[in-house]
This record gives sequence, C-alpha cells and structure tokens, in this order.
Amino acid sequence: MANHARKNDHAVQVASIQTLMNRDKPDADLIIIDEAHLSCSASYKSIVKHYADIVQVVPMATLIASGHLVKPRVFAPFTPDMRGVKKSKGDYDATQTAALMDKKEITADIVKHWVTSALDRKTIVFASSVAHSKNIVAEFLAANISAKHLDANTPAKERDQTLAEWRDGQFTVLSNMGLFIEGLDVPAASCCILARPTKSLTIYLQAVGRVMRPHESKSDCVILDCAGLTYEHGFVDDAREWTLDGKAKKPREEMSVVHICEECAAAYSKAQHPDECPECGAITPVETKEVG
Ligand SMILES: [Zn+2]
Repeated sequence: MANHARKNDHAVQVASIQTLMNRDKPDADLIIIDEAHLSCSASYKSIVKHYADIVQVVPMATLIASGHLVKPRVFAPFTPDMRGVKKSKGDYDATQTAALMDKKEITADIVKHWVTSALDRKTIVFASSVAHSKNIVAEFLAANISAKHLDANTPAKERDQTLAEWRDGQFTVLSNMGLFIEGLDVPAASCCILARPTKSLTIYLQAVGRVMRPHESKSDCVILDCAGLTYEHGFVDDAREWTLDGKAKKPREEMSVVHICEECAAAYSKAQHPDECPECGAITPVETKEVG
C-alpha cells in the first residue's frame, strides 16, 4: 500500500503492518493476518483492537484428518521439574533452564529413546543452550549416529551448507539453539526432540510444526518430549479456542489428561485410549497425571 495510490473501492486490500499502523483502519468485514502467531505484538494489537471477534478457520486435528499435516506420535521419557526455576520475560530463566537440562544422564537418555522410538528419522533438536545443543550432538556421535549443531552465531555460509547436507540426507540429527522456530521448510523431517522447556505455547507449536508437514517418505512424525511441554501445554492437536483478549476460553482441566506409558514412554490421551497404550499395548493403569 505504501508506494501505491490507495483505492478504497477495491474489495480486497493488502497492507503491511507498518503501513496499516499509520493509516485509518479499513472498514473491513474480515482481516487475514499472515504469520498470525506474531499478532500478540503491540503493533498488531493496535490494529486488531478495531475488530470484534476472531474466526477459527480450522483446528489442527482437522488438518491431520484431511492429510494436510501428519499425526504426531508423542514419547515423553523425561519431564524436568521446573518448579524452582525463575521466570523472566514470561518464560523460564534461560541460564537456570540450561543448567537443569544440560546433564549427561538426560542427554544419554534422549539418544537412547531416539534409538528406540525414532531410529533413522530425519530429526531436529531444540536445545536449551548452545553448549547443551553441542553436548546432544556429541552424545549422538558417540552412538555412531550422524549429527550436527547450529546456532545464531554459526556463520551464514556454514549454516546454509549444514542445512543443505541435512536436507540431502548426509547426516540425520540437526540440533539447534535459537534457530528454526519458524521458517525451516524440510518436510522430510519426521522427528522433533524437545529439549528446551518453555512457557511459550507458540514456541512449542512452532517447534513441533517443523515435522508435521506431509512428505512422501513419512506417514507420521515422532515428538520426543524431554522438556515437559506436553504436560505444560497439552497435546499439539488438542482443540484450542483462540481469543483476542489473550486468555484461554477453555479451562485447562478440560484439556486432555496426559498419560505416559511406563513401558514405552508414549504420551497419550486417556480419553482417546482408556484401556491400553496405542504404541505398545500396555494396559493403562488407573492413576494419571494431570496437564499443567
Ligand atoms: Zn506403551
């Protein structure tokens, strides 16, 4: 809109957020926001407040049922105890979180469970610090599984080359710190290792979303949740009601109860599978852990 004569009589108007912030707001019946997970920022809020309600186009479960996304199989072999961790800027303190997560026994457990549940899947790891990410790579390499690390300080040329090698299948596990939350487009990736605890539902959904795109080489994806994110935020494909006032309409107790299989570490909804584990068939015991 900025460098073009504005024509208000056209039915569809396209504008950047920067342009729209400085103009009268269009008398629109419907606004569509690209990259809508950014729309909680102040700039978007200044626009969105002019409109009354939000349209929920299609829930994730429907996209999975229609084949536009693949079904996640979730394993949660380890859940960190975050109760003593400080919060800063709305999330867990990064230093404390990294100290909690970057332990040899946890990292070894990640590799062990990957071998059991996700062997040879093209895998992306979300780590809690640069050192943590490098230690995870070292543990995979020690198990003779090809792996590489990237972070925000990796030179652009090296980052591009590493990504191209991963895309080509020259190595299996790509671990990163602080990259690829959005914009990574490698649909053949079919395992996501969550090793970064976060209060952010957006980061969780964006991370898992990297491996949910359909591809001819896969029929599902594996989420190895070592960060307690399924407990913290619910299942990726749980129904969520989004609002414009930033509050969840649905009480947490209405979300799926997460049960973790003692045999295979599968995390599943007891409502959907009241009798047995969908992965290994182990009988579901009566006692459960609640989300949250
Ligand atoms: Zn099981």
